[in-house]
Order: sequence, then C-alpha cells, then structure tokens
Amino acid sequence: MSASPSSPDIDREAMHARYRAERDKRLRPDGNDQYVEVTGVFEHYVDDPYVEVTEREPVRDEVTVAFIGGGFAGLVNGARLKEAGIDVRIVEKGGDVGGTWYWNRYPGAQCDTAAFVYLPLLEETGHMPTEKYTHAPEILDHSRRIANHYGLYDDALLSTTVTELEWDESVHRWIIRTNRGDEFRAQFVAMGTGPLHRPKLPGIPGITDFAGHSFHTSRWDYDYTGGDPNGALMEGLADKRVGIIGTGATAVQCIPHLARSAGELFVFQRTPSSIDIRNNHDIDAEWFDTLEPGWQEKWIENFTILQTGGFAEEDLVKDGWTDLSQRIRDRVLSYDEGFSPELMLRAYHDSDDEKMVEIRDRVDELIADPDVAEALKPWYRQLCKRPCFHDEYLQSYNNQNVHLIDTDGQGVRLIDETGLWVGDDHYDVDCIIYASGFEVGTEHARRNGFDPVGRDGLRLSDHWEDGMRSMHGLHVHGFPNLFVVGFSQAANLISNVPHNFTDNSKTVTAVIAHALDTGAQEVEVTADAEGAWITRLESGGRMFGGSPDCTPGYYNNEGQPIGPRALRNGVGFPEGPAAFFDYIDKWRNSGDFEGLEFR
Ligand code: NDP
Repeated sequence: MSASPSSPDIDREAMHARYRAERDKRLRPDGNDQYVEVTGVFEHYVDDPYVEVTEREPVRDEVTVAFIGGGFAGLVNGARLKEAGIDVRIVEKGGDVGGTWYWNRYPGAQCDTAAFVYLPLLEETGHMPTEKYTHAPEILDHSRRIANHYGLYDDALLSTTVTELEWDESVHRWIIRTNRGDEFRAQFVAMGTGPLHRPKLPGIPGITDFAGHSFHTSRWDYDYTGGDPNGALMEGLADKRVGIIGTGATAVQCIPHLARSAGELFVFQRTPSSIDIRNNHDIDAEWFDTLEPGWQEKWIENFTILQTGGFAEEDLVKDGWTDLSQRIRDRVLSYDEGFSPELMLRAYHDSDDEKMVEIRDRVDELIADPDVAEALKPWYRQLCKRPCFHDEYLQSYNNQNVHLIDTDGQGVRLIDETGLWVGDDHYDVDCIIYASGFEVGTEHARRNGFDPVGRDGLRLSDHWEDGMRSMHGLHVHGFPNLFVVGFSQAANLISNVPHNFTDNSKTVTAVIAHALDTGAQEVEVTADAEGAWITRLESGGRMFGGSPDCTPGYYNNEGQPIGPRALRNGVGFPEGPAAFFDYIDKWRNSGDFEGLEFR
C-alpha cells in the first residue's frame, strides 16, 4: 500500500519528532483528575435506561458462590461452576447479564476482536457468530444464551448493586449487602466487576450549565434520538444540532450512524484515533460446519500466541491485531541476527512506522478535504492508544452535515447554556453526547462502590494501599474464599479480554471444587506466596499499556509518571500472556495448589 520505512522517502526522524511534539501538546498536569466522577449532580448519567426496576423482597439466605458482576467474567465462571455442580448466584447492577454489552448499546457498537475468539462458550452453546466482528445486539443475545444454557438466571439478582462485602470469621462466610436491602451469606465470592465499567465525563468548565440534552455513550438515550441498537435511522436527530465529545473506539463506531441521522453533527476531537481497515464479513455456515470439535480453544490459543509475539504455523484469525505481530516476526527473521529483546524492539518500531504511514495514507485516500484529512491523522505509535478498525468512519467526514472540530490537542475549552467553545469559537448544539470513556486506574472501591472487608476487619483498599497485591491476580492474603477475576497480575491480555476470564474460570472452579471435596471451610493464599508472586512480576516489569513516550490516554496513565503503585496495579506475568496460561494450567492441574492454604 505504501512505502516501507527503510525507503528514502520516509523521514523517520521528522516523524518521531512530530510524535513527540503532538504528545507534549497534549500533556496536562492534572492527568486523570481532568475527568469528573459520575456522582452527585452527574449521577443521572449512569442510570439504567434499559429496564424498569420492579420491587422484590430482600434476599436473606446462603449460597455456595456469589459472583459479583454478570458480564463475561460472571457468565463463564458461572458456567464452569454449574458444570461442576456448584451453585452460584450472580449479582449484577444492570437489568440483565452482559456487562459491557448490556450497557454499551450505542448505534454501531461492535466487537473489535474476532467473534470466534472473543465470544465465550460458542461450542458449548452451539452458536455460530453471524459475522467475523459481531455487533453488540448479537453479543448481548449471546450473553443471555449462556445464562439460559447454564441456568444462571435462576438465582441471579439483577438490578442489584453490592454495597458491602464483609468476611464473617465466626461462620467462615462472606456477608453480602446490596442496595435492594439484601443481606445474604456466601461461602465463596468472586468479583468480576470489569476494568472499564464506570463511565467518566470530561471536567470541562461549565459542563453543568448546558441547558440542552446530554448523555454518555454507554447509556444511549434512544427515547431522545430515535433509532435502535441495530442501527436504524435516528429520526429524533433529523432536525438537531448534535455535538459529540471524543474520538476514541466508541465514537469511531457511532459517528457514522450519527452522520446519517443528525441534522448537523459536530465532532469535537482532541486526539485522532488510528483507523485501520475492518474487513468484516458474514460467516459461511457450510465452512463453520467443517470446524472440528475443540476448535474454539485452538483458535483462542492461536490468537493469543500470535498476537503477543509468539510463533504458530498458521494465523487462524488473520486480522489487524495479528497483522502487526506478523510484521514484527517477519522483520526479525529478515534481520537474520537471531533473537534478542533489542532486535524485537527494533522490529516493532520499524513495523509500527510502516503501519502508521499506511494508516495516515489511508486518511488521504478516503477524505476529500485535505485540511480535514490532515486533522484526522494520528501521530503516535499504533499501540499508544486503542487501535481502531472501521470501513465507514473516516468517510463520514465527507458528508456536508458533519463538521470536524479539531481542538489541536486541547479539548473543549468551555461549555455554556447553549453549546461548546473551542478557542474563541462557539458551537450552538441541541445535544451533547459524551464519548469520553471510562475510569481506568482509579481506586477499585470508587469504581465498584464497595470495599471488601476481610479477616480481622482488613479493608481491601488498605491492603492495596501501595498497589494491588495478589497471587495470580486472583487470590488475596487476608481475604479467604475471595477471587478477584480480571487480568492484572496475571496474563494481562488486552486484545482478547474474555480469554483471561475463560482461563480464570478453570482456576476458580478447580480451587472451589477442591475446597468442597476436602471439606475445607476456608482457602487463602499465604502471605509468603503473595509476596513471592509480586516479586516475580515486578522483576519482569511487563506493564499493561503504552509507554510514557506515548500520547496521553488511559493506556499510559494520561502521560503522568507511572509510580510503583500504578505499576503494581497494571503489571503482568513477565514472560507474557501465552506463558502465563501455560504456567497456570500446570499449577492448576498439579492438584497441589501451591501457595494456597486450605483450612
Ligand atoms: P476512550 O477513553 O478511548 O476515548 C475518550 C475520548 O474522549 C478520547 O478521544 C479523548 O481524547 C476524548 N476526550 C476526553 N476529554 C476530552 C475533552 N475535554 N475534550 C475533547 N475530547 C475529550 O473511550 P471509548 O469509550 O472510546 O473507549 C474506551 C475503551 O472501550 C476502548 O479503549 C476499548 O478498550 C473499549 N472499546 C472496545 C470496543 C470493541 O470493539 N471491543 C468498542 C468501543 C470501545 P484523548 O484521546 O485526547 O484523550
């Protein structure tokens, strides 16, 4: 498509100088504090627009396992526990299961990771994804399919927010209290509350002054816009001037729909996303039938290996995620100098330079107005921000009713009663849509709304005062029978988050089954094992996210220094995700559960 980075027409030095200049322009001393929390006057931005909550009696009973969160983490863990004959109650603040896919129903919402590796339990539930990259309604349906298939609705508490979680030593049980007046006991509790579930708003001066309509993309207001999550025309916007703040992965997907529906659309851009080719296609049912039993696990492993720098004979998924890895591998081989971390880094940089030139060239190819094209070009390494893939987003800016308001990295300066200010220009709008993302890296208790209290009254926030402490990301000393289901301090696999959960579910089920089989009342990681795990991880320093040289964003703590605490919160297995999955498989299957104490 375009020149290779070694070709004389690419001035790499100038390109990297531009990267630095663009980054510096965006650095701001308030870092994460630039965002406002959705509490107080902003609380209504997180109301559930999708369900009428019906009254019910408070629950006061006991279950074997309570799982907090009904997203993919809760669903796959619930499924495996049920398969093992262990009862589990999902507690979910949304009106249904699905997590991210329950909340994010904005038009165009779609998964950027191929459905065959992203959607869990496809073989078990007999579902064939309709497209390579599934749209959100199908993912929500699949979540419901899993819940139905495994009977997870039977005992679930939906529209229910956990407010307190407390270990009662005298009975060796957790006490769970909720906003619905429930107070019940569970022998085991697992928390799969999601890394990006709490919406955030930009702290733009005057944000509360706006007199028009506004909402966050994760609570799309179809009553106002018309249309539906399947992408029907939003007739309510036909005569409206709509402003959208943000151009991240969410905005990229909904802007083409807004462009079709809105009278006038103003896109307020601070940093352009990188938009690579999507190449979505329908799945051929005949071909799907040829897949051998066990195919999904094979595909998932293949994707993880290739996407994280490993080698495999075949690239089963073949997409934008594996493309960059493929380029790096080919380059290392072409150097013919063996392998070393330095070579890998050089190959990564060269491949990335090539990829980003292609991405910027694509903008020129697709955008009619050269000034608009220039403003839409991303000047940073692809993995500094969430890479985006879309075949209609850029073209939206060719529409007469769509106006790119590029803020040259500064963002919206002010909001007033009637609209938004960028520099000295005012934009009158009827509606502001906040595509401003989710809290990442804030306190877990702030994001979750509760702070588990473990043995001897120890609060999780105190135990984690200097950063997360765990063994395998799952087990925490001082918190018996509790499992933290996520990816930090474990595989840290970002490109296919559900893979972390499907793997966790095997460990959680094995440990609980072992405790029940042996009559143990409690299982807890020892302080030594937890400490040894942290030491092991920190010696590798393998962090989630972009480097400090990157343009600011949630991948790199908004460009602020990453101190020991943030490092601990985001550190992963030193040898990478595929090695972690191998390691934990052996640990689990040995039956020794080394590091855990069963009492
Ligand atoms: P992001 O945090 O990625 O984007 C927020 C956007 O708001 C950025 O463009 C940011 O600009 C902009 N912004 C913030 N403050 C201001 C301001 N004051 N003025 C102007 N603009 C501002 O949130 P998203 O919801 O887009 O995505 C969050 C994550 O969700 C993704 O990274 C991805 O992991 C996931 N996702 C996944 C999808 C999938 O396919 N699986 C689809 C959608 C989302 P700046 O970049 O300068 O900070």
